[in-house]
Amino acid sequence: MIDQSIDQLIARVKEMQTKFIIVTGGVCSSIGKGVLTSSIGVLLKSSGYKLSVIKCDPYLNVDPGTMSPLEHGEVFVTNDGAETDLDLGHYERMLGIHLAQDSSISSGQIFQEVLEGERKGKYLGKCIQLVPHAANTVKQRLLEFALKHEVEYVLVEIGGTVGDMEGDLFLEAIRQLRMELGRQVMLAHLSYVPHLEWTGEVKTKPTQHSVMELKKAGLVPDCLFLRTEQPIPEKSVEKVALTCGVGRDFIFQVLTFEALAKLFVDLNEQNLCARIQQHFNHEEIKKADLSFWQTYISLIEQSSKELNIGLIAKYVGANDPYISIIEALKTAGFYQQRRVKVTVIDAELLEPGQEEHDQAWQQLKELDAILVPGGFDKRGVEGKVLAATWARENNVPFFGICLGMQVMLIEAARSLVGLEGANSTEIDPKTKHAVISLLDEQRGVTRKGASMRRGAYPCTMQPATKAQAAYGKPVIYERHRHRYEVNNAYRKSYEDAGLVFSGVYRDKELVEIAEFPDHRFMLGVQFHPEFCSTPRSPHPLFSAFVKAAVERKQQ
Ligand code: GLN
Repeated sequence: MIDQSIDQLIARVKEMQTKFIIVTGGVCSSIGKGVLTSSIGVLLKSSGYKLSVIKCDPYLNVDPGTMSPLEHGEVFVTNDGAETDLDLGHYERMLGIHLAQDSSISSGQIFQEVLEGERKGKYLGKCIQLVPHAANTVKQRLLEFALKHEVEYVLVEIGGTVGDMEGDLFLEAIRQLRMELGRQVMLAHLSYVPHLEWTGEVKTKPTQHSVMELKKAGLVPDCLFLRTEQPIPEKSVEKVALTCGVGRDFIFQVLTFEALAKLFVDLNEQNLCARIQQHFNHEEIKKADLSFWQTYISLIEQSSKELNIGLIAKYVGANDPYISIIEALKTAGFYQQRRVKVTVIDAELLEPGQEEHDQAWQQLKELDAILVPGGFDKRGVEGKVLAATWARENNVPFFGICLGMQVMLIEAARSLVGLEGANSTEIDPKTKHAVISLLDEQRGVTRKGASMRRGAYPCTMQPATKAQAAYGKPVIYERHRHRYEVNNAYRKSYEDAGLVFSGVYRDKELVEIAEFPDHRFMLGVQFHPEFCSTPRSPHPLFSAFVKAAVERKQQ
C-alpha cells in the first residue's frame, strides 16, 4: 500500500519537475555542509529560482530539543515552534526564508513514524524492514515536502559523515530517489582536502576514499566540493576528477573566508550556478545577482572599529551553542561600521569563591556591553545576576534574552523591589518570592519538550518605550522556547520600582519585554530575537543594543 503511494508521489514530482540537490559530507564533520548548502541556495535564489531546504539528521533523537548544546550546538526554533538543528538558522539567515518542522527530519522521527504505523496496523501484517518501510518513509517526507511547497528546487542536507552507519538509511533513500527521478536529482558531495605543512602538499586521498564510501552506497556524486585552507593546484583537482569519476567542470573549491558572503561570490566565479542549471538541462542559464552580498561585503570591510560585547554564558569553549546570537550581534555591528568581538565569559566564574574569579571580573569590566543569553537550569545563574547588577549600576548596555530577562528581573526584585531571595522557581523551587514561575496550567506536564511555550507569539508594544521605538510597530511576532513566565503578582511592585513592561502577550497577559527607562539600555525579552536577524534585516533590538554600546564607547 505504502509503495503505491510512493509511486504516486514520484509521478507527481516528475510532473512538477521539482529538482533535488542532495548535499553529503565526507572525511570528517564540521567542514561546512550547512554553509555549502546555504551557498548553493543563495546562488539559485539570486538567479530567481524558488527553493526550500530540508536537513536530515541521522541521530536517533526525535529532535535536538533535549540534547546538550555543548554536544549539538544551538537549538534553532522556527515560527511554528519546531526545535531544529542550527543549520536551519544558516538557511533562514542566508536565504531569507522561513522554514518549519517539515524541514527537519531525524532518524528518530522516521523510526517513530514507522513504529507508530506498525502499532496501528498500517503495514497489514508485513514484516517491517529498513528497506522498504523506513526508506520509503524518508522518501515520502522529501516528496511530500516538494509537492507541498511547490518550489523549483529542494536542497537536502544529509547530516553526519558518509561512511558512518548512522547515515545509511538516508543514503539508501537517496539512492532510490535517484533511480526513480533520474536527473531531477543532483548529488553534491563536500569533502575535506588536508594540506600537509611538513611536505607542503595537499592530499586528495581522503576525498577518494570518501567517494568510494558513497559508491558503496550506490551513489556516484555529480559534483564535488573540496574544502580547503588554501587553493588546490589544478593538477590535484584533475586527479580528483579522474579517480572519483566526476567531470572537472563539476569540481569546486570551498575556501575559508572571513566573510561568508565572499564564498558565495567565489563559488559563483567558479561557475557553480551555471553548472547546476546545466545538470538539470535548463534551457536558459540564468545569472546570479549577488549585488546585495557585494554591498554587504563592503559593509564588513568598512567596519574597522572594534566593539567588545560579552556573553555571560553557561557553555564556554564552543560558539555553536550561541551561534544565532553571535551572528545577530555581528550583523548589527556591521550596519554601524563596528566589528563586534564576542567575549564569552563563564557565568559561574563571576560567583565568589571561584578560582578564576578575578580574571572573569576583569574581563567583565572591560566590556562595552553585556548580553545574557537563554538557558536552562541553575548553573551560573547567580553569576549572571551579578553581571546584571554591574550593568545596571554602571549604566553598561545590557540585553537579556529569555533566561537573560528572567535574570534581569530577579536582580531587580532583590536590589530594587526589596524582595530578598527572589528567584525563579526553576532555580529555587522553594523561593519566598517566585517572581518567575510556571503558569498554573503548566504544572503537572512532565513529558520533556511538551510543556514549553514555543514558536511565534504576538506581542503588543507599549508606546514611548525603547522597545517600541526600536521596532516602530504596535504589534510584533517573536519566537519562544521556555517554560517559565514573569509572575504577574509582582508586576505592580516592579513598576513602582521604575521598571516598564514594554511588550505583553495580550491573550494571556504575559510579559514579553521589560526595560529600565532611565538606563542607557537595559532591556530583557522573554522570546528569542536572535532567530529572526538576517544580514538583509538586522534585528531592531540587536541594533538598538549595539547602538547604545557604540554611544557609550564614544563618550
Ligand atoms: N529556563 C528558562 C525557562 O524555561 C529560560 C529558557 C530559555 O532561556 N530559553 O523559562
